[in-house]
Amino acid sequence: MQWMEFGDYQIQFDRGATGAAYKKVSVSTPEKCGCGPCLNWAMTRSLIIPVEFQELLHQFGIPLNGETEVFHNGKLASGLHSYGAWYHFVGKLLSSEREKPLTLEFGKFSVFFRSELDLLREEFKGQSVVQMDIHAEVPWLSNVPEENTVSEYLESLLLPDVPEMKSLSDAVEPKWFPELPDSK
Ligand SMILES: [Zn+2]
Repeated sequence: MQWMEFGDYQIQFDRGATGAAYKKVSVSTPEKCGCGPCLNWAMTRSLIIPVEFQELLHQFGIPLNGETEVFHNGKLASGLHSYGAWYHFVGKLLSSEREKPLTLEFGKFSVFFRSELDLLREEFKGQSVVQMDIHAEVPWLSNVPEENTVSEYLESLLLPDVPEMKSLSDAVEPKWFPELPDSK
């Protein structure tokens, strides 16, 4: 078991066990769904997922296409598209659950962790699992016909703007540890 601290989250995780579970998953979820917004996400995920979040997935042992579920909320007046998704990994939340998502430092992408699991894959059953939810506002980059209806309701759900001048020392950076210390 490894562990990480991220803001006020403390998370224990088993990278090897997560990787082993994902090896048995044959088709990733948005590809399997095949609707326009899912295909758009699937075709461009390496471009629209910030590298910092890709690194987070990598550290947990989750492949880039390891979403348990992806959903499209709609197009925003900004031209960006509001998506949600979640991922599972073998591990345990050591700190208490948060009520509000912790917004990462790379713009319109937020992430939060919880122990309540939705649509857990067979491959993970019987293990202690953490769910990582994201909310993303991303451009539509694929040649899949764009879903163009702008939802006014969605405007009320907009992620807060990340302050442009926030200094590096204020940034929330994940800290990774090779194993759980005895004192914890
Ligand atoms: Zn779909």
